[in-house]
Amino acid sequence: MLDVSGIGHAYGSGAAAHTALRDVSFTVRQGEIVCIVGPSGCGKSTLLRAVSGLLPPSAGQSWLTGVPIRSVPDDLAFVFQEYGKSLFPWLTVRGNVAFPLKARRRSRQSRDRAVEDALSSVGLADAADKHPWQLSGGMQQRVAIARALACEPRLLLMDEPFASVDAQTRADLEDLLLRVRRAYRTTVLLVTHDIDESVYLADRVLVLSTAPGTVVADIDVTPLGPDRDQITTRESDGFVHLRGEVARLLRYGTDRHAPQEA
Ligand code: ADP
Ligand code: MG
Repeated sequence: MLDVSGIGHAYGSGAAAHTALRDVSFTVRQGEIVCIVGPSGCGKSTLLRAVSGLLPPSAGQSWLTGVPIRSVPDDLAFVFQEYGKSLFPWLTVRGNVAFPLKARRRSRQSRDRAVEDALSSVGLADAADKHPWQLSGGMQQRVAIARALACEPRLLLMDEPFASVDAQTRADLEDLLLRVRRAYRTTVLLVTHDIDESVYLADRVLVLSTAPGTVVADIDVTPLGPDRDQITTRESDGFVHLRGEVARLLRYGTDRHAPQEA
């Protein structure tokens, strides 16, 4: 589905150049949720922007279903951390979700249908006529998720989408993502700095090094099974083991002299 090869990026040029990423390569298979976890400032947002075609990377290339990504493809949607800045305050919830569809050649009827389906899949059917400023933070982020889903993207990129909401809302939004991913069969690449969240959501976790970021590990999380539960999954031996492995890799990289027990 997504093939990322040798992505590197430096901001600025000459003596002022700042290398944010180096030689990042990975693939995402259709239907997978892949989480990228890495320390703050290691280049996670830069990586998502480079993969999406928003930012031309200094090195490397990404392909979506074999087609090189040079600008943002139609079948890709992006959800940012700052839902407050990504919604139009003068449009209703329905207007926000419908907005990107207006540019697409679709019948009015199929557009309305996609909007209503997306709103009900995130539990916002009753809030369709409200404005973003009448909603809580978690509801606003659900609008942003609905807007992405309404486009029926092949690939959904999410940059710390749940980092600005309280813990309970965050857990609810994580479970919402797992449900809609199943309903829409969307492939998801999600960036987070939260180890537990990465393991809870993912089929695979890619661990990035400190800046400039590069992939230090690619961890299979499918042994946890497709059905996750905020309480039983998080207390299971498999989860505890995996979160320890990710934490160790984040702290020590692949250094063999790292202590074996964190
Ligand atoms: P993360 O998302 O992992 O916290 P970022 O990708 O946002 O990291 O940033 C990686 C590094 O690149 C940081 O040192 C940051 O200051 C720098 N950086 C990010 N965006 C820009 C920009 N537009 N111009 C210059 N430097 C930037
Ligand atoms: Mg970031």
